[in-house]
Amino acid sequence: MNTTPAEPILRVEGLCKHYGARRSMFQAAAAPIRAVDGVDFAIQPGETFGLVGESGCGKTTLGRCIARALDPTSGRILYKRPGGADGEEPVDLATLSPSGMRPYRRDLQMIFQDPITSLNPRMSLLDIIGEPIVINGIAKGRAVRDMVADLLEQVGLRADHMTRYPHAFSGGQRQRIGIARALGLSPRFIVCDEPVSALDVSVQAQILNLLQDLQASRQLTYLFIAHDLGVIEYICDRVAVMYVGQVVELASNEALFSRPLHPYTEALMAAVPVPDPAARREAAVLEGELANAANPPSGCTFHPRCRYRTEACKTTRPALREVVPGHFVRCHRAEELTLAGPSDYVAREARP
Ligand code: SF4
Repeated sequence: MNTTPAEPILRVEGLCKHYGARRSMFQAAAAPIRAVDGVDFAIQPGETFGLVGESGCGKTTLGRCIARALDPTSGRILYKRPGGADGEEPVDLATLSPSGMRPYRRDLQMIFQDPITSLNPRMSLLDIIGEPIVINGIAKGRAVRDMVADLLEQVGLRADHMTRYPHAFSGGQRQRIGIARALGLSPRFIVCDEPVSALDVSVQAQILNLLQDLQASRQLTYLFIAHDLGVIEYICDRVAVMYVGQVVELASNEALFSRPLHPYTEALMAAVPVPDPAARREAAVLEGELANAANPPSGCTFHPRCRYRTEACKTTRPALREVVPGHFVRCHRAEELTLAGPSDYVAREARP
């Protein structure tokens, strides 16, 4: 299914990542865990495409499959290199072996959630940032130092920091180091996996602004994974909402936050804290647990938690449909429901 019009840099088609459950002598084979279960979307060059959902919804697994840090079970990851020759066909990254992926590793990088555990404490910044540059044959010797100095300054650190070790830096500075390491190979596409969720709110804004500045100066495309809707609204152009391994809503930032069309999105938005508790009482509260990806509910996987469910929702699985141009929803009742978005809560707070 095509969810965007023009030439995307990345198109995901029917992507699945299933984990086979182990079978012992005394147990029957259990159903596989469907961490990612048939995802389709396309991302335009220069876009920031958000993936949001509760912890365990499959968004990080999906991001890692796209960066090929994990092997997908099935589906396609079509990557078209920006600036490639006219008529150059996209490459299906899902089919490539580790050696086949090597030419694309430089293009696709990741920024991780936890800058503390993603940086080797025994390595200086020169080694952390310089290692991928040397391994990929981009530079050696003095030129590596010059590149690392330049990268440190681009992310708001000083060149003389390169002799220090990660423990000497704050959480926000460590995330800047992680960003410098990702930039060392001049990537085109970066999977940002919860890059600010471990940081204080004031530091989050600095890192988000840095990512936006780098995107503009380096023509980067981001897949931005987060569970915080405020962060997603701030930085993303379009957003896909995930539930139990599937996209349940996909829209532009503006359309999603002005009028969500899926009850799960409405409930996620209602869960964002607001100053007036009275507004919360009227909101769609997200009750119950995330469904088990090894044994998802019949029909609509969200139906046990959905306050709008009907009998049909319990038996018939909804497809992802384009309900209004550019706005895709996986819900039988998308056209008839009028759901609340963040502006409704603000409006209620403003009432006398
Ligand atoms: Fe709720 Fe039914 Fe829509 Fe699922 S299909 S989100 S249960 S109304």
